[in-house]
Amino acid sequence: MSTSQLQLFQSAVMQSWNAIVITDADLAAGCCVEIANPAFCAMTGYSLDELRGRPLKMLQGPDTDPAVIDHLRACLREARFFEGTTTNYRKDGSSYIVRWNISPVRDDDGVLTHFISVQQDISEHVRTERENRLLARALDATSDPVLLTDAQARIIFANTAFVEVTGYPASEIRGRTPALFKSGAHDDAFYAGLRSSLASGQDFRATFINRRRDGSLYHAEQSISPICDEAGRITHYVSVSKDISQRVDMEQALRDAATRDKLTGLYNRHRGEQLLEEAAAEARTGGGPLTVIVCDVDHFKQVNDRFGHPAGDRILIEVSGILRQSVRGRDAVIRWGGEEFVIVLDACPQAAAIDLAERIRVRIAAHRDVEVGRVTLSLGLATLAPAESTDELIARADAALYQAKRGGRDRLCVAESRG
Ligand code: GH3
Ligand code: MG
Ligand code: MG
Repeated sequence: MSTSQLQLFQSAVMQSWNAIVITDADLAAGCCVEIANPAFCAMTGYSLDELRGRPLKMLQGPDTDPAVIDHLRACLREARFFEGTTTNYRKDGSSYIVRWNISPVRDDDGVLTHFISVQQDISEHVRTERENRLLARALDATSDPVLLTDAQARIIFANTAFVEVTGYPASEIRGRTPALFKSGAHDDAFYAGLRSSLASGQDFRATFINRRRDGSLYHAEQSISPICDEAGRITHYVSVSKDISQRVDMEQALRDAATRDKLTGLYNRHRGEQLLEEAAAEARTGGGPLTVIVCDVDHFKQVNDRFGHPAGDRILIEVSGILRQSVRGRDAVIRWGGEEFVIVLDACPQAAAIDLAERIRVRIAAHRDVEVGRVTLSLGLATLAPAESTDELIARADAALYQAKRGGRDRLCVAESRG
């Protein structure tokens, strides 16, 4: 190496941002400092004069890891490269975490004469990492699902609650966008609202219907907030949610209990009467003809008597299923009483209602229960007359049903139009 290169080398070492120290190789005396650069003096708080001639053991203290020091000694004894991390102490007694390495230095004859050590104070780095780990653990301990994305909405963190609610392992969603959880239950306006809120730096709160990994849906009360850097630029988004599916399910169950028949799932009499009243009001104000069909299973008592009550229940469920499948989505099928059903057809011309009733009769008669076999249905049909009450309408349909029974059952009778 030329003199100028040596000089360059010296000034580079002296100016290096890494702390550099060179000791002798006298292991018995603890390897004493020969020279250290200013970064090393700054890190340890000792001046070069204070360091020179003293072993670096003086930097160790109560929290210095003995296992790391044992490993260091073994490396020095065998003149091997060493690398490690531990706690050291400055002159003023304060501690810092150092990551350092030591290389043996040999002279031209290959004799070990020195060790050179490059060191770095990583306290800040370790503290940040510990804080990050603590924050992640804190988020994992929270029972509410938390999701963190970058500015492009790519997922970078999902807490344990999120993983549990959605069924997606964290590794599977990292890098994806929350579009993964879209259920299709929200329209474009919903997402437009979400985008414009976030773009203007505001939180977006809404009840989301999301899709789990297994395809099932869940309701989440979700709040999404942008996270900005010092310059006010959005760098991340955080979403905190509450899985409210249980509450929504319970509310639905309560609503169902109040409006649905337990055995068949059809509307119950109470709800049916309300629906009929609403449909009548609609028809009276020009909503189109309203027709009701009252149906009753023939000789149902015999079904119970011969096959038992559970078989009778099953017949009622099967009949309900056929009724529901036969009508339009908007039509109400009501379990009016024991084995009696009412179908409310609003805005339906009578001719179409008669066709439907006949179709239902044929379908029921064609159906075969595994145990009971064939049952039949008698039907009475009436169309709302002007100034007629719903009670009068049902009474007319009932009279038509009675006529069908008397006429031999398994048939439809239509009440004569009134008014
Ligand atoms: P009809 O052809 O004249 O209608 O004769 P029916 O035997 O069907 O009429 P009836 O009114 O004499 O008998 C109806 C039976 O329906 C009596 C009742 O025990 C039975 N029933 C009412 N509700 C239920 C129910 O929820 N489950 C079962 N299995 N049977 C029921
Ligand atoms: Mg009956
Ligand atoms: Mg009856």
